[in-house]
Amino acid sequence: MIHFENVSVRFGGTTALSEVTLEVPAGMLCVLVGPSGSGKSTLMKLVNRLVEPSAGRVLVRGSDVAGQDPARLRRSIGYVMQSTGLFPHRTVAANIGTVPRLLGWDSSRIAARVADLLEMVQLDPGLAERLPGALSGGQAQRVGLARALAADPDILLMDEPFGAVDPITRRDLRAELRRIHAETGKTILLVTHDPEEALELASQVAVLRDGRLVAEGPPAALVAPDAPDFARTLLGGGQ
Ligand code: ATP
Ligand code: MG
Repeated sequence: MIHFENVSVRFGGTTALSEVTLEVPAGMLCVLVGPSGSGKSTLMKLVNRLVEPSAGRVLVRGSDVAGQDPARLRRSIGYVMQSTGLFPHRTVAANIGTVPRLLGWDSSRIAARVADLLEMVQLDPGLAERLPGALSGGQAQRVGLARALAADPDILLMDEPFGAVDPITRRDLRAELRRIHAETGKTILLVTHDPEEALELASQVAVLRDGRLVAEGPPAALVAPDAPDFARTLLGGGQ
């Protein structure tokens, strides 16, 4: 579904990614882990063309993203940004309805979907008409999640989606994501710094270090005694 083929990304003198090859088959929930600056967000942004490869190529649904219209590609992929990236001058409801509106849904269908999503991410319906500036960090993050899910995309990119959420809501949202993944078979690429979250959610874990993919496989294999120390440490499996 998503295929990174020998991809490198350079920003001026900085090499953010070096020759990364990774296949994320349809229906997988692939968790990306790695230290700060290891290239996780950059890898994710290649999928919706917010970043272009300096070398190699990225295939989505079997075709090279370089040949795909960026706006159209982005409408087909849910994206939860590391910083929520909500439109500051649009209400919560309008933010969540962004992609459905671009897809031409009528307003009653959008309103119904917004109401369902607010419930799903456990936000008070009374927040629908607020502007993002009047939300807490965790509320804004949940709006970002609802927006990414709005048009039911088959691919979701989630960059630390629960980072600013309290532990209880985080547990609930994680369970909700597991349910969505199990029921809909979406292909999900998710970044987290939380080992417990990685192990609970992942069907596949990819470990980045200094822009290189240093380990990849099912979570159990990456915490096993013979797994690379670097992966085991990041995933909380000891030194
Ligand atoms: P974090 O866990 O802190 O979010 P990350 O693994 O997501 O880190 P990236 O954001 O992918 O890391 O950054 C990888 C490297 O590329 C870093 O050295 C970063 O400074 C650099 N980088 C990222 N985006 C740009 C950019 N637009 N211009 C220049 N350098 C960039
Ligand atoms: Mg990042």
